[in-house]
Amino acid sequence: MINKQEDNLQTYNWQAETLPGTDTILDVFQILHRNISHVFWIFDLIKQQYLYISPSVFKLRGLTVEEAMKETMAQSLYKDDYNFIMNHLQPRISHFENGDDSMKSMTGEYRHPHKDGHLVWVEISSTLIKNDQGKVDRIIGISREITRKKSERQLQRDTQSLFETVFNFTGIGIALINEDGSFVNVNKGFCKMIGYPRGYVMEKSFFNFVVPGDIECIHEIFDTTHHAKNFEKQSEIRLINIHGQIIWGLINITGVKSLKENRMRWVIQIQETTERKKAEETIKLLNTDLQLKNREMEQLVYVTSHDLRSPLVNIKGFSGELMVSFSQLTRILAEIAPEEKQNIIQQLFNEINESFDYIYASVKKMDRLLRGLLDFSRLGKQIKAPSMLNMNQIVADVIKINEFQIKNQGISITTHKLPDCWGSEDLINQVFSNLLGNSVKYLEKNRPGKITISGRTDGNYSVYCIEDNGVGINPRFHDKIFELFYRLNPERNEGDGLGLPTVKKIMELSSGKIELDSSEGKGTRFFIYLPNKEKADRG
Ligand code: ADP
Repeated sequence: MINKQEDNLQTYNWQAETLPGTDTILDVFQILHRNISHVFWIFDLIKQQYLYISPSVFKLRGLTVEEAMKETMAQSLYKDDYNFIMNHLQPRISHFENGDDSMKSMTGEYRHPHKDGHLVWVEISSTLIKNDQGKVDRIIGISREITRKKSERQLQRDTQSLFETVFNFTGIGIALINEDGSFVNVNKGFCKMIGYPRGYVMEKSFFNFVVPGDIECIHEIFDTTHHAKNFEKQSEIRLINIHGQIIWGLINITGVKSLKENRMRWVIQIQETTERKKAEETIKLLNTDLQLKNREMEQLVYVTSHDLRSPLVNIKGFSGELMVSFSQLTRILAEIAPEEKQNIIQQLFNEINESFDYIYASVKKMDRLLRGLLDFSRLGKQIKAPSMLNMNQIVADVIKINEFQIKNQGISITTHKLPDCWGSEDLINQVFSNLLGNSVKYLEKNRPGKITISGRTDGNYSVYCIEDNGVGINPRFHDKIFELFYRLNPERNEGDGLGLPTVKKIMELSSGKIELDSSEGKGTRFFIYLPNKEKADRG
């Protein structure tokens, strides 16, 4: 066996020592010297040169033994590492020579330059060798390549620091807790969320920061995860911050079973949702308010349109009676009045008659408007249950109703094959009546009218297009025309301004929508989107 006490290689009897088996120590050394990837070397401190370098230097540094042997120690090491070694070598030798044996062997990480210029990280174990006078004159060393280990360690360090950065600077609160709620670790995000410093949080239990009513919910999650190896669950809970305010958080709990310690731990991630929750609450309140206002509004429209019609009926009835009485009166007057008064009586009769005509026309219009408003307010109240509708049939019926006008005005109508849709027949019929009626009504007087009705399927919708080559609508009014009683150029055509608001309301009731594409003088295209199956998503 190699005598571990013996330092001086030269005095060692290599040949004589044998190992169990047949190899001598020298044989073993030679095998190692040729085959091992570590580089053995001996450096003579007196001559300042290498006495020996094993052939593996070629593998380590790309140098032949001859090339490596010619190098000085400074050439064989990276500059900074050489300076470091030199600063420490002399004191180390002195201490060792003075009897401090701990200085004899040392290990450190240094860099050798490779022949192709890059640096090779090595772990060098060096041993100081004394001569007969007790003075250190040689160093024996082994250089072991650690470049890979080094880069793995660096990668590990980089990954860890990346993880720490993410852990601490993510906007999400993260805590690793034990079964009893005590913290194993907690990040800055969590501490910021609740407003307490990390040191304070670490001493508490996670449950100290949870609204008591929500603790049970967390325990339930823990219980269900307890027997699973890895488990993840989401829930919304409330925390209490340093000011005693409630913080809403979307919590994600992952149970991790440590097989080594045979215990459960939980990684808790919390994303604050207080603002969203507040916004949701506000929207909920506003929605309720809106629904209330809507109902009030509908009620108001219904009551006014309904109640205003009865005095109107009176005005209509009594003005009719007045007219009859007045014509009787005029007849009597004509009989008994002197000749010279006959002209003035006739003039008065004409004026009063004209006033009656105005009253009658206004009453009629008001009656029509109130009836329209009443119908509008009742829209959707008593509708036929929705079903799949054969739109080819519905459109054909609508065209038939307008047939007289279409023929009379020489309008050419083209209808393409239309897809079915889901809706209430009466309402959808009304939509197409209003739109086709408008297309006919708003044609240009001085060019032949052309109307085309087509349809296609677009995802969950059937889309219908009613196109005319009429007067068109300036894009500035594309929104306005859907307002109650709004009419463009009322002097040009008859109408009440209720057609398009009615269509719009029906579309809302039918989970559909209406769009238009139109420009003045060129014509208009209305697009109707209706669900093509029972439950289409709104698009
Ligand atoms: P009304 O036809 O009774 O006036 P609507 O609500 O149906 O009321 O339409 C509102 C306004 O939109 C109309 O006054 C008209 O100016 C315009 N409009 C509607 N359809 C068309 C169309 N196809 N072409 C041109 N203008 C139209």
